[in-house]
Amino acid sequence: MWLIWGSSHPEGDVIRIGSNPRPDYVWPPREAQPATCRGGSAGCDRSPGWGCSCGYYGLRREVFVQEMMKCAAAPFAVLGKVYLWGRVTVCERGWKAQYAYPAELYLPSDAGWDEATLVERGRNLEDYGVPVDALPLVEILQIAGT
Ligand SMILES: [Zn+2]
Repeated sequence: MWLIWGSSHPEGDVIRIGSNPRPDYVWPPREAQPATCRGGSAGCDRSPGWGCSCGYYGLRREVFVQEMMKCAAAPFAVLGKVYLWGRVTVCERGWKAQYAYPAELYLPSDAGWDEATLVERGRNLEDYGVPVDALPLVEILQIAGT
């Protein structure tokens, strides 16, 4: 399962990964938090609920590649594989889960960052305790597509 994380979020001097659909959420390193529903009275009791949009998403590979082709104009994303567990449901674009954590993280090396920034962001992302690599976007898509 693949995921597009939002632009890296600064936390003090350190860069963290943020949620793509929830820009206020910052993924904590080495910690998996249960999904919560923010649907209010129209929400569900246990996230991810059927018919509710809450939960951690993992995209099928082909959906991920399609999304990336559309978002080529958003180069500062962090991309990667994600583990999903707990209560998991199938959705149109892949899966939704109660828990999630990055499995591998990729920084697009051709996103316009200078070399020093790329190295610094890569080191920050190593705090998640998973493999981090910087590759041209086309190579990340090749990995996702295989
Ligand atoms: Zn919900």
